[in-house]
Amino acid sequence: MLQIAVVPVTEYQQNCSIVYDDQTKNAVVVDPGGEVEKIAAAVEELGVKVEAVWLTHGHLDHAGGAEAAKAQFGVQIIGPHQDDKMLLDNIEMISAGYGLSGMFNASPDQWLEEGDSLSVGEYEFEVRHCPGHAPGHVVFVNHSRKIILMGDVLFKGSIGRTDLPGGDHQQLLDSIAHKIMTLDDDYQFVCGHSAPSTVGAERSTNPYLQ
Ligand SMILES: [Zn+2]
Ligand SMILES: [Zn+2]
Repeated sequence: MLQIAVVPVTEYQQNCSIVYDDQTKNAVVVDPGGEVEKIAAAVEELGVKVEAVWLTHGHLDHAGGAEAAKAQFGVQIIGPHQDDKMLLDNIEMISAGYGLSGMFNASPDQWLEEGDSLSVGEYEFEVRHCPGHAPGHVVFVNHSRKIILMGDVLFKGSIGRTDLPGGDHQQLLDSIAHKIMTLDDDYQFVCGHSAPSTVGAERSTNPYLQ
């Protein structure tokens, strides 16, 4: 089975996800924003083998620990889309401006594009480029178990903020309409902050989508 263990990291309680196949023990770490020792402890407890770090987008709470995680697990950083290079190159400057420490610029080993495919054990994830919250934001969609790793595009009862550099409200609404709402109601998602939800629940109750 495809499993997800969520480890909240950083002052922003960002949901770093350890996504793994419990048969093969293959795993990836999605959005290690910081506190990599906490992520490593969870990986050890699960007894899984981390094979990559995936990033949904370049904000510091998602990517600030990516280089530390890369070193910790001896793997590559994959994603997001290269339109977030500017954000990834400025994590240290921006986090210092917020008075935060322990967050570092990240240099992905591989950029992602719409339609790319990644895998965790036997499970494939389709990459969808969803700009609006951040220009290079991607989400990871698994169709066999109907699971989405959503980052900060859509939340339970809310949507990503668009007041940060590179944010665009209409573009975010278009991304949600064309890349998320085209999926069936029973797709479940884990998002970057707060509780998980489903496409169907947000389609019927999310105030931003009515
Ligand atoms: Zn964000
Ligand atoms: Zn976030």
